[in-house]
Amino acid sequence: MRFLSADWIYPLHISPIKEGVLQVSDEGKIINIFENRSEVPSDKLEIFEGLLCPGFVNAHCHLELSHLKGIAEKGKGILDFISRVKKRDNFKNEEIQNSIIQAEEQMIKNGIVAVGDICNTTDTLLQKQKGNLLYYNFIETFQINDKKIKETLIAAKVIRNEFRNSGMKATIVPHSPYSVPPKLMEGISNFFDNKDDLFTIHMQETSEENQLFENNKGDFYNWLNKINASSEIWKNRNNSTDVLKELGRKHTLLVHNTFSKKEDITDNYYCTCPKANLYIENSLPDYSIFDRDKLCVGTDSLASNDSFSILEELLIIQKNSDFDLNTLLKISSKNGAIALGFKNLGTFEKGKIPGVNLIKNINITKIL
Ligand SMILES: [Zn+2]
Repeated sequence: MRFLSADWIYPLHISPIKEGVLQVSDEGKIINIFENRSEVPSDKLEIFEGLLCPGFVNAHCHLELSHLKGIAEKGKGILDFISRVKKRDNFKNEEIQNSIIQAEEQMIKNGIVAVGDICNTTDTLLQKQKGNLLYYNFIETFQINDKKIKETLIAAKVIRNEFRNSGMKATIVPHSPYSVPPKLMEGISNFFDNKDDLFTIHMQETSEENQLFENNKGDFYNWLNKINASSEIWKNRNNSTDVLKELGRKHTLLVHNTFSKKEDITDNYYCTCPKANLYIENSLPDYSIFDRDKLCVGTDSLASNDSFSILEELLIIQKNSDFDLNTLLKISSKNGAIALGFKNLGTFEKGKIPGVNLIKNINITKIL
């Protein structure tokens, strides 16, 4: 049993407590929270400088792309980025696996306890089976050719079942509104079953995506025509968010939203990946448009970020919003845990095993 105290405790389900004490079992389970240090025998107290908060939830990651660190040049836009990521297969399996191991180690060191992870392959399966972190695996599909939709869905189902057979959460999801025609959206929606909690989709990451749906023109429109994409993608959609209806109004985690307006926001969960947005588009979302209880944070992949650190992401959000510290920590822990369905994580509520992070100045130490 440990009694952890710091200048501040941020339990996130209740208000922050100055010089509070967290009683934690050897297995990391929260046993109690005390308002005062005097309630605990002083010889048992471990006192830290800084604040204690629950472990972080990285709500959007592509762990399998970790070997692509540095492959894309900063600020070149999404079309250049997509062309770079296509080189993902030009690497030895050993290199891919080693990068996955190192990237996971980095997440653990940086106080991350759970991940919403996008998968196009089963490359991360071996590492995830070790159970170092909790993962919700989102099996991502895209297909711009209407004739290949069936085979895309069949391939996704094979990957999903491999993750599920290893005892992990896995849901088939669409990549984005511009890469998934309505027929594929419908197929994805039909696959949703009682093991699934939510969908996730990249949303309004660029202004070109809005141009495509709102005006049927621009760089995305020209690019999709050049690669013979099905016009069904934009024909009956006047806004990126129209695809949410096609998904059957199930809970969805919308990722990026860099070019979303207030009127685009729906009753869903949202995930911001500020460092990736700065990396690719050199832009950030308007943080005032989001419901603060529904906003999560993610790192995206190492192809569009130089580290897996939720704290670094928070510092950028803090600079570009009016969110107070308690709100920022909710975004980094509680909201992601709720969105992804990790009931034991996200707050210091009794009975949970959320992990304990110590933040001092702008440094983080994983205590538990
Ligand atoms: Zn992503």
